Amino acid sequence: MQPVLETPIEYLKGVGPQRGELLRKELGIATFGDLLLHFPFRHVDRTQFNTVGEVADENSAVQLRGVVKQVRMVGEKQARRLTAKLTDATGSIDLVWFRGLRWVQPLLKEGGEYIVYGKPTFFRDHYNLAHPEIEAAATWDDGAATPLQPVYSTTEKAAAKGLNSRGIGKLVQALLPQVGGSLPETLSLKLVEHFGGISREEAICEAHFPQGKDRLEQAVARLKFEELFFIQLQLLKQKQLVQREVKGNMFAHVGDLFNAFYQHHLPFQLTGAQKRVVKEIRKDMGSGRQMNRLLQGDVGSGKTLVALLCMLIALDNGFQAAMLAPTEILAQQHFRSISRFLEGLPVQVRSLTGNTKAAERKKLLAALQEGQVQILTGTHALLEDRVVFNNLGLVVIDEQHRFGVEQRARMQAKAQVPPHVLVMTATPIPRTLAMTVYGDLDVSVIDELPPGRKPIKTVHRTDQARIAMFDFLESEIRKGRQAYVVYPLIAESEKSDLKDVMDGFESLSRRFPLPQYAVGIVHGRMPQEVKDYEMARFIKGETNVLVATTVIEVGVDVPNASVMVVENAERFGLSQLHQLRGRVGRGAEHSYCILMTGDKLGNDSRTRIKTMVETQDGFKISEVDLQLRGPGDIMGTQQSGLPQLHLADLVKDADLLQEARRFAQWLLDKDPEIADPANAPIAAALHEQMKEKAVWGRIG
Ligand code: ADP
Ligand code: MG
Repeated sequence: MQPVLETPIEYLKGVGPQRGELLRKELGIATFGDLLLHFPFRHVDRTQFNTVGEVADENSAVQLRGVVKQVRMVGEKQARRLTAKLTDATGSIDLVWFRGLRWVQPLLKEGGEYIVYGKPTFFRDHYNLAHPEIEAAATWDDGAATPLQPVYSTTEKAAAKGLNSRGIGKLVQALLPQVGGSLPETLSLKLVEHFGGISREEAICEAHFPQGKDRLEQAVARLKFEELFFIQLQLLKQKQLVQREVKGNMFAHVGDLFNAFYQHHLPFQLTGAQKRVVKEIRKDMGSGRQMNRLLQGDVGSGKTLVALLCMLIALDNGFQAAMLAPTEILAQQHFRSISRFLEGLPVQVRSLTGNTKAAERKKLLAALQEGQVQILTGTHALLEDRVVFNNLGLVVIDEQHRFGVEQRARMQAKAQVPPHVLVMTATPIPRTLAMTVYGDLDVSVIDELPPGRKPIKTVHRTDQARIAMFDFLESEIRKGRQAYVVYPLIAESEKSDLKDVMDGFESLSRRFPLPQYAVGIVHGRMPQEVKDYEMARFIKGETNVLVATTVIEVGVDVPNASVMVVENAERFGLSQLHQLRGRVGRGAEHSYCILMTGDKLGNDSRTRIKTMVETQDGFKISEVDLQLRGPGDIMGTQQSGLPQLHLADLVKDADLLQEARRFAQWLLDKDPEIADPANAPIAAALHEQMKEKAVWGRIG
């Protein structure tokens, strides 16, 4: 970084120690450089006004000019709020503040003229503006020389000390001449031209104080692109390094086991997508480089079979393979289905979980070390140090979301040459997000379901329909089918959740009494053995209905289950609902998903339910989820994989992100070392960035 940009912020004229401390603590601005990158989140267009009469919907923000009257403090305690009326030639609109009252009130002078900006809310038959930005018309007119005025985010505390949007703007204005000439170009000439010929320095100035709307747009596009481009470049560079430096086992041929299985044991035709993905993986494992691949495929798309085919290739090349699952139930299920697939073939498959008895484990571990066990499935138990392979060549990790980077690393450490890694996830991640969070992995996608799957009929019902819903369950049970009834997760603190599940279990048990029927229950507070026992009963068909919390969310495969009832469906996230629904529709029968909610739904809940009713496409659902929740929440504990962005937005700037990825790839293809003098600015900037934030990308 240029030294001037590293100057502590208190040295800027107009800051000093006290405000310096505030800027640091409240806004994370510690240096000149930080302030420079504290971009406004929008610009006020001083030339565009609306009238009160034009206020007509909740979606578009309005800028109004009028006289403030009836400034009142109303309500008590939590309901305390500040209200006022703003009147122009066409009418009046209510302004209301719930927070920061002490700070806003002194600004409002009855009879004074003000400019307000905000999004209207429709409440009790009329529109009002809650927490509008507000400024006295007199000071507004002073600033009229800059038609597009920046609006900066700030905090109440900072604003109270003069660091409101206007105050920050003044600081930026003081800063710009000081850093002029010391902001080096970071893109090649070609790229600069592609983005309207605006240099980095110009772009930064324009993004704060634009000369006009077009320039502002161009500048922001350039800066956003730049942000995304360097993230992609780092990820791809990382991948390039791993590919070069980490040798992998060469799975040179596809041999007897694979062929025998493929020709004689495959119970059905592979889907086109399965074939394509197996080919991609085969090529990867045969390249001599270590494979680090993410396999995305919707629930029920047949990932297990793909994993098995890949494991057979490992075996054909004299290696062992391991498959990890996040839960005991899933591990057992993998073990069973893989054993069944391989019946009649000379392959030793074993399972190792926390429940494996000591004597058996001892034998198993010895056989594993000697190489007699070829495929080992299991849970976290596989990660323990005492689990030693003879020659581990491929690790398959199912349901990625529950496995961290650390576990991957531990698995890899079990072989001298790092084994190939295939990570499978059934929670589709939107493309743009995958590109960023898993940008250093190769990604394969199974985008096709096996033929003959009947769509799962999904409906939304409220409590009034409960009796009818029970009757429907009965008719399905009479046909020999099974049903899940799922309640929201039991968290340690939420006693009421536990009560809900227990009540639900009781009323279902009453409606479906023994001995004719059997209802089981699985919830998060049960000991693991009891859970496993209850699950096993359901899998064997001994219970007709399973009342459960989300413990069944991931991967469980009971083809005979045809109904999924989700209680309090409004409390579930989209990806959870999608996972839950994926538990049915696995057999040949028609399947149903019934989403039960209360009568009143918030906007987001309604969108979620509607999306579920309308589509079964996991990728579409994940896109909606991303819109609703944003990248941080979607990635959950893997948030660390998300980069810090100043301007770009992974949701709104998806197109720009794709463009950035393409350019980064194109650049590395043409100039792998970034040594071409024309790309010198890029090389320098990349070097700077990699030095700065000891790469957040993950190493395979
Ligand atoms: P997931 O991708 O959710 O892990 P599974 O691997 O559990 O899906 O597969 C779901 C079901 O589909 C299994 O019963 C499996 O045997 C079956 N299946 C997989 N591939 C095919 C195919 N090509 N044709 C028909 N059924 C298939
Ligand atoms: Mg699976």
